[in-house]
Amino acid sequence: MIDFTLTEEQKACQNLVRNFAQKEIVPIAHELDEEQRHSPELVEKYFELGLLHYTVPEEYGGAGLGTLDGCLMGEELGAACGGIAATFGQNTLGLTPFLIAGNPELKEELLVKHTSGPNLAAFCLTEADAGSDNAAMRSTAHLEGDEYVINGTKRFITNGGIASLYSIFAKEDPELGYKGISTFMVPADTPGISSGKKEDKMGMRSSDTREMIFDNVRIPARYRLGEGFDGFKIAMMTLDSTRPGVGSAAVGIARAAQEAATAYAKERVQFGKPIAEFQAIQFMLADMAIRINAARLLCWHAAWLYDNGHRNTMESAIAKCFASDSAMEVTTDAIQVLGGYGYMKEYPVEKYFRDAKLHQIWEGTNQIQRWVIARQLLR
Ligand SMILES: Cc1cc2nc3c(=O)[nH]c(=O)nc-3n(C[C@H](O)[C@H](O)[C@H](O)COP(=O)(O)OP(=O)(O)OC[C@H]3O[C@@H](n4cnc5c(N)ncnc54)[C@H](O)[C@@H]3O)c2cc1C
Repeated sequence: MIDFTLTEEQKACQNLVRNFAQKEIVPIAHELDEEQRHSPELVEKYFELGLLHYTVPEEYGGAGLGTLDGCLMGEELGAACGGIAATFGQNTLGLTPFLIAGNPELKEELLVKHTSGPNLAAFCLTEADAGSDNAAMRSTAHLEGDEYVINGTKRFITNGGIASLYSIFAKEDPELGYKGISTFMVPADTPGISSGKKEDKMGMRSSDTREMIFDNVRIPARYRLGEGFDGFKIAMMTLDSTRPGVGSAAVGIARAAQEAATAYAKERVQFGKPIAEFQAIQFMLADMAIRINAARLLCWHAAWLYDNGHRNTMESAIAKCFASDSAMEVTTDAIQVLGGYGYMKEYPVEKYFRDAKLHQIWEGTNQIQRWVIARQLLR
């Protein structure tokens, strides 16, 4: 049997985040976007709510929640502000390699400290010459005695300048291509780490995106995750787990755009009646609802598979791809429904459009998602 009923705990969590997002985030979302400003206060408040480190098991100071819970929260945060959802979401992304491949001793040492406060993590994979082609990365890590020395420059790293813990992907053996990549957890106060200037972005402007420079960064050998040389696999497993949440954040943006468009259509009068009475407008609103509902279910399904121990590589790629493509369609049409005002910053829909765009690009572009899906089909 299939049951889409949320548990009482899931409904409570969804309501908690919805109230928080509408009360704390929505009133300042426009200002943060305009000023391209990160809000440590919001991170602090979300931490106080007990949800900042929601995927971390309780024994390590987290909330011990799953990927589906993350979808519920991601949609509410996305509906309030894509940039804030990105800041919180990338903390989860940065911690996921640790949760997948960290040993208990290292979790006691680094993770418990991280979850004890409003700390953010960052996921450092992308480089100038290694975007979609991660395996082309040039960052290196070599063992000297009982320390690893990491060198390299990562690009477009969310939370780059504000994180206290980094998951870094670097090649232990460059000759081995993607098979030579390992993953390391590195505290931000380690000497040799610096960040470039904050990127001036189209959307998600309240999130902090920077180049990260790792110059002879020395860490204890025990900070390497897994068995070593398995970094590519850890990265792919991480993305299988986080893509449903990315899709859900896109669903949230689309939902907010549809709600704004529906409210406007009921109020705006042209030719003597509300524009909501024109079938052309009604069909745009209906198409929004079709896309949003379908995308939500795809995300929930991909998350459910992951939470229940099933491989979800194809389903999470489908969910992320469809949800973000849908968010672009919905936000584009929302601007259309508002006409000239849709194009103005006075109304929120142009921000939804700008924020939605990133979801087609990061955590693997939607061309790469289609590649992942096709590879699974053709196996
Ligand atoms: C705001 C922002 C925040 C980000 N945050 C992070 C982060 O926290 N951590 C991190 O590691 N990365 C992060 N990224 C990087 C992001 O994941 C990459 O930008 C993305 O993977 C694409 O890489 P690229 O920009 O180098 O584009 P490219 O790989 O150069 O792609 C350019 C175009 O070519 C297409 N393309 C490339 N290869 C193929 C192919 N084989 N088949 C078909 N089409 C192809 C792409 O789909 C795209 O349309 C962030 C990016 C942005 C913009």
